[in-house]
Amino acid sequence: MGTDKKGSHIKGTKKQLPGGWVTGAFRFAIFPTDEQKQRLEMAFGCERKIYNEYVAGLYEHLEAVSFSGGFLTYKVPNYTTITERFDYLDRSNDSFVYNDAKIRFQAAIKKYNETYGKRPLQYKKSVRQKMKDGYAPSLQDVKGLPKFHSKKQGRFSYTTNQTNGNIRIESRDGVTFLRIPKFPEGIPVRLHRELPADGLIKKATIKREGDRYIVAISVDYPFEKLQLVEKVATSKITALDYSQSDLYMDSEGQKAEYPRFHRLIEKRQRRQNKSLARKKERAPKDKDGNPIDSKNYQKALKNYQKTMAKAVNQRNDFLHKKSNQITNDYDAIVVEDLDLTNLAQCLRLGKKLHDNGFGLFRNMLKYKAERKGKHYIVADRFFPSSKLCSACGTKKENLRLSERTYACAHCQAMIDRDHNAALNLKNYGIRTLSDLGFLAAPVSS
Ligand SMILES: [Zn+2]
Repeated sequence: MGTDKKGSHIKGTKKQLPGGWVTGAFRFAIFPTDEQKQRLEMAFGCERKIYNEYVAGLYEHLEAVSFSGGFLTYKVPNYTTITERFDYLDRSNDSFVYNDAKIRFQAAIKKYNETYGKRPLQYKKSVRQKMKDGYAPSLQDVKGLPKFHSKKQGRFSYTTNQTNGNIRIESRDGVTFLRIPKFPEGIPVRLHRELPADGLIKKATIKREGDRYIVAISVDYPFEKLQLVEKVATSKITALDYSQSDLYMDSEGQKAEYPRFHRLIEKRQRRQNKSLARKKERAPKDKDGNPIDSKNYQKALKNYQKTMAKAVNQRNDFLHKKSNQITNDYDAIVVEDLDLTNLAQCLRLGKKLHDNGFGLFRNMLKYKAERKGKHYIVADRFFPSSKLCSACGTKKENLRLSERTYACAHCQAMIDRDHNAALNLKNYGIRTLSDLGFLAAPVSS
């Protein structure tokens, strides 16, 4: 897709990489000078301003058409219609700062339509509670609609795209610099790992996490995939059953051992969030109710952001390590086809589910397995992994969520519910590999 008969790229469609090429993300610490920090902060602020103007425009439109659920049909205006209205949004910024807000906003609309387009308007539980007491909800309360980015939760970042070599890494007098538009002098960067030698830089996201500045660089580069393992021994197959508390249980009966630091950080987050709210309350405010000139508040805010960033980094580190280990140790990995949005809603587990990042983890497993020539098998959505007995294959129609042990009435097997599900997934993987001729010793069927 996206190419014409001659194989050249059609504008406006998603570009496909040439065969054997992959896209990789590289993250580095950058060390802007105080003056550069000011300019970066201004760019972050402009991005947020434009994004919020888009949201305001959307809400205005939705009010006008008395939006009551279903697909959003909204023609996103060009960013210049917004930059024209505000003097300070001038050309001192990289124009991608503005374009980026538009791209993010479009993505937010798309996400809404994909998730909520076919459903009536939905409100958060807390809002529904207030509505019972006569509260009239606003568009801000609608689940999934693009929201205003606040300074607190807002993103301190923008993405700039490559055009004619305007993003690059260069060295001068033993110092390595990141060159991006509007920063021709370069921002000092620490490259703790090399960028691929034949790689093409596609875009760069500059952001602040707490008080650290980071650049994430997206690079396309040629990558040798390892040859697919052709004969897989059953002992080299593992299956992972999603678990809310432990990330997963594997077919050996092992949990992921999701580290405890995460809970500690959660605790710290809650405490800092409270302290933040208190300081916000005490701080002098402008007419919109935003705190002004409060050193204490600013300090608490930075601390909070720092903790958040740390939590995300540690979680991702853990997921990377685990997925590396699994794709090294095994030749085939079997997972279930989870509809994560649906599951979150059914079980009202939304927050935790996203916290422990199983979706992200599956993505890591998938691309790491592909690169290492390992099989990544997704059981189809209708495979009843929890309901089958892994010992005799009998299906238990009425298995309650509260039954933590699977007890088979047919063969009397007693086994941990998640372990049973993981074993069923492994069997599914064995059959799939056998059908395709990839099993070392095919099962007779
Ligand atoms: Zn049984």
